[in-house]
Amino acid sequence: MAKERRRAVLELLRRPGNAHCADCGAPDPDWASYTLGVFICLSCSGIHRSMPQVSKVKSVRLDTWEDAQVEFMASRGNSAARAAFESRVPPFYYRPSASDCQLLREQWIRAKYERQEFTRPERQEPYSAGYREGLLWKRGRDNGQFLSRKFVLTEREGALKYFNRSDAKEPKAVMKIEHLNATFQPAKIGHPHGLQVTYLKDNSTRNIFVYHEDGKEMVDWFNALRAARFHYLQVAFPGASDADLVPKLSRNYLQEGYMEKTGPKQTEGFRKRWFTMDDRRLMYFKDPLDAFARGEVFIGSRESGYTVLDGLPPSTQGHHWPHGITIVTPERRFLLACETEAEQRAWMEAFRKVVDRPMLPQEYAVEAHFKHKP
Ligand SMILES: [Zn+2]
Repeated sequence: MAKERRRAVLELLRRPGNAHCADCGAPDPDWASYTLGVFICLSCSGIHRSMPQVSKVKSVRLDTWEDAQVEFMASRGNSAARAAFESRVPPFYYRPSASDCQLLREQWIRAKYERQEFTRPERQEPYSAGYREGLLWKRGRDNGQFLSRKFVLTEREGALKYFNRSDAKEPKAVMKIEHLNATFQPAKIGHPHGLQVTYLKDNSTRNIFVYHEDGKEMVDWFNALRAARFHYLQVAFPGASDADLVPKLSRNYLQEGYMEKTGPKQTEGFRKRWFTMDDRRLMYFKDPLDAFARGEVFIGSRESGYTVLDGLPPSTQGHHWPHGITIVTPERRFLLACETEAEQRAWMEAFRKVVDRPMLPQEYAVEAHFKHKP
């Protein structure tokens, strides 16, 4: 009997909708919540276990099942659960995938099943009101110390601001929504809720690093920033569909890590720098948590004169890491060296992704700026 019940649950995995984890989309889930009626991956099942009042999990293959539990799974499944628990997810709300950090996956699961934010829209106010303020721990620009700072996000002014003292009248910085990007970077920041906010000022990229002790608060900030971006883009691009705009709300970096580089004359030797590839902007920093990029390289398309080559020119001087990359731009060559072959391949792939893609009209403006930079 037990065997038959397990076979019946395994059968359910073949139904459309159940082939991917209900929460993160990873293929071939083999765990189930028999109180919610969803099939989930091992990693998401661990998060479900941390909210036992809402979800009880079993392995599809390793646990024994009761008739009533099998019947409940048969009556629900991932498609039905989606219709129920995700009925009113705002279009700008970030839906995590399997590769996202623990915080995003955990808060998505809690928002859906524990807080039921997407069946009770009044609970979406923290990221839907167009205004949000509160304290965040912000990394000091030069000393690396985290200090509590008041932040205000106002869609009316189209900006995120922060204040150095809670009674200060004038903000320390005003970051326009138009040029703002937010991405979770827990490993880099050294905090599980660490969020990196980058913005453009005078065409240079600036970084700030923040966190909140409470995971929900931090993810609410992130989705409030996405909401502000969404509403900004809806006005800037009237007629664009939600599907066009949603991928533009926040960007994850194509690639990040240490490489070595030479200066423009290529005679001063290789120096180790932290590189970040944000779409077509390759930025480098002395330290991953620097407020400003030391320099930026724009990488255009093949048609506009950009090429990425495996290796370094034979004339290259000096001691450097073994796996070279040469970026050829219309103005000059950039010589880079990676410590491992795997890193070199990953960087080459990231560079080729943008070189192979035709340039958009607004990207020519960015390119022009870089050409005139000293
Ligand atoms: Zn999952």
